[in-house]
Amino acid sequence: MPDFKTIADFRKDNGEAIRKVCREFVVLCRRLELFSEASVAIDGSKFKAVNTRDRNFTQAKITRLNEKIATLRQEIQRLNGLNTQMMQTEDKQISLTDPDARSMATSGRGSGMVGYNVQSAVDTKHHLIVAHEVTNVGSDRSQLSRMTEQARAAIGSEAIEAVADRGYYSGEEIVACEQAGITVYLPKPMTSGLLAKGRFGKQDFVYVVADDVYLCPAGEQLTYHYTNEEEGKTLRRYWTTACQACALKSKCTTGKERRISRWEHEAVLETVQARLDRNPAKMRERRQTVEHPFGTIKSWMGATHFQMKTLKNVGTEMALHVLAYNMKRVISILGVGGLMEAIRA
Ligand code: SF4
Repeated sequence: MPDFKTIADFRKDNGEAIRKVCREFVVLCRRLELFSEASVAIDGSKFKAVNTRDRNFTQAKITRLNEKIATLRQEIQRLNGLNTQMMQTEDKQISLTDPDARSMATSGRGSGMVGYNVQSAVDTKHHLIVAHEVTNVGSDRSQLSRMTEQARAAIGSEAIEAVADRGYYSGEEIVACEQAGITVYLPKPMTSGLLAKGRFGKQDFVYVVADDVYLCPAGEQLTYHYTNEEEGKTLRRYWTTACQACALKSKCTTGKERRISRWEHEAVLETVQARLDRNPAKMRERRQTVEHPFGTIKSWMGATHFQMKTLKNVGTEMALHVLAYNMKRVISILGVGGLMEAIRA
């Protein structure tokens, strides 16, 4: 059996002879009187060459490609101009239609939108919006103390409770609320990569106030060693020398020993966590309270949400929606007559 190269070489080297044999074979057919009818049908069909379309160029194709390149050059110029503008902004972002709108992550995985982050404080009894604020900051992390303060001022009560989701979790914000006498309920986000790696998280270490030590999952005491500052936070560091010989070490640390840090205000965070542990229903209450007004207002707004542009105008638009929402709520509580009487009084 000849290999492929033998056949290829034969074909390449004997072209004239092969074509001649082909013609001679037709002559043979004629001699055999196979063409006695003397009638033929003519047609053509395209057969592919070894040359792909990408490796073939025509004048029309070159013209098309040049037009595409010119369009891309223009687009690159436009993007370079935008990039220069964008790099001059504080948050390295520009929105062309509404200059104040910002790209924000939403709760859906991998999803996001360009818009505004509307903060609201909703009363748990009648679901009225007591305070709201339109921001173009994507994260809720810095909003807790300001929103709860606004809510407290609006309600006119010194002591208030505030329940929020884990997106609001910020040690500094929680401490600010607690120091201002606002009782907060919110869960701690589980962001530690240790959990994903199957290792003990900080929640597996129990702080013993009386002895100022942490008890680890192996029952060892992690004692205080020193204090330092990190990102503006004063942190106390705890560890034990028992780690090297610990049977649980592979589930705990890859270092010489496992160290635990304690923020100077950690006790406040522990109080908040203990309060939530005693009242787990608070999170359900949060969902039932604060998510309803947002859902209702968004359904009124339709698919595009805000119609106006810029933070100031969007703030006005939102205030109108909140006013309408609260009026409808009060009408359903007091009736139109009751509301009119209250307005007149
Ligand atoms: S490795 Fe150290 S901190 Fe971790 S469980 Fe063992 S003794 Fe405790």
